[in-house]
Amino acid sequence: MRWPLTPVDRLQDFRPPFCPRRHCPDHHAPTPPRFIRHGSYPTRRGFHVQRFRCPRCGATFSRRAFSLAYYLKRPELLIPIAAGLEAASAHRQLARTLGCAPSTVTRLSARLGRHALLLLSRALQSLHDHLQEPVVIDHFETFELSQDLPFGVALPVGARTWFIYGLEPAPHARTGKRTAVQERRRRRRPPRPARGGYAGSITRMLDRLLPLVPSGRVLHLRGDGHPAYARSVRAHAGARRMHLESHPNPPRGPKGSPRSARAKARDRAMFPVDCLHGLLRHSLASHRRETIAFGRRLNALAERLFLAIIWRNFVKKRSERRSDRTTPAMLAGVTDRPWSWKRVLAQRIFPDREPAGGVWEEIYRRDWPTPSLPANTRHRAVFTY
Ligand SMILES: [Zn+2]
Repeated sequence: MRWPLTPVDRLQDFRPPFCPRRHCPDHHAPTPPRFIRHGSYPTRRGFHVQRFRCPRCGATFSRRAFSLAYYLKRPELLIPIAAGLEAASAHRQLARTLGCAPSTVTRLSARLGRHALLLLSRALQSLHDHLQEPVVIDHFETFELSQDLPFGVALPVGARTWFIYGLEPAPHARTGKRTAVQERRRRRRPPRPARGGYAGSITRMLDRLLPLVPSGRVLHLRGDGHPAYARSVRAHAGARRMHLESHPNPPRGPKGSPRSARAKARDRAMFPVDCLHGLLRHSLASHRRETIAFGRRLNALAERLFLAIIWRNFVKKRSERRSDRTTPAMLAGVTDRPWSWKRVLAQRIFPDREPAGGVWEEIYRRDWPTPSLPANTRHRAVFTY
């Protein structure tokens, strides 16, 4: 994957690669057009930021337009917030530590999530025709706003590399025991878009995975025997190029009893995704059990999960018990070295130039609302889109 080593803000000789304005024809320029130098402005730290003018649309912009710090008053907060979110800090805790407003952390968390979404989409582009390993799939269970509104998140994980190939939310009805009061409250809630529930999320996941498989090869999938998985694979247009192995959970006996041979085989087969679920519950405040930091909106939870996926794939070592610094992205052949947060945030990705496709675009625009909440602000920024 093509990704700079040096952040855009630090480059010695920066030339704009295209016009940053979304509606300018030169926004999609395949080769860098000529831009006219248009003065500069000083930063608080005494640096001068070069400005340019686009001869095509007349807009002026600076090099900052190509950096993730675009329009930020405190760009230095991006890295500590990204790292803090992956260390199970909640927004208010981060705001207290960093000396900023809690709303700043919430806004930057959304910006980081959108960036992570586009970065993962670009990484998948570079993996087209390169997927060589079985993919282990399972739904990570969580909820938005209230336990009345649960949803699963389909997570496909590479069996060998532990690379996470995406995420697809799957809202579903509340299950399990509930009191009469809880049931009345649940019924009063406005219906929410399910987008196909479990089966829909698997279909969308298969749509993203299949182009990664070299032509003539079969996509090997491993699941826990959920009936929706087999149904979605059978109904998919590319069903002939897929093979689904099922590893249902066998009866385990009372707590503490030794695992049967079948249970051991199931745990071995599903380990990459079970390990990821444990890591997410451990590392993200919103997914801890019995927390007050639970997520209020599916959109925001998905943004934070995208950031966690980028951290897992590119920054965190595959295993921290060994001195080996190899990351899942290196094993998958996406990059040749571990990334720091600085490198993850080295440049801005423009969604109009590299559309993420499918419901990922809806998550980017925050178009997957939570109807139980009075307001659902969409992401419709003009310059920071
Ligand atoms: Zn332009």
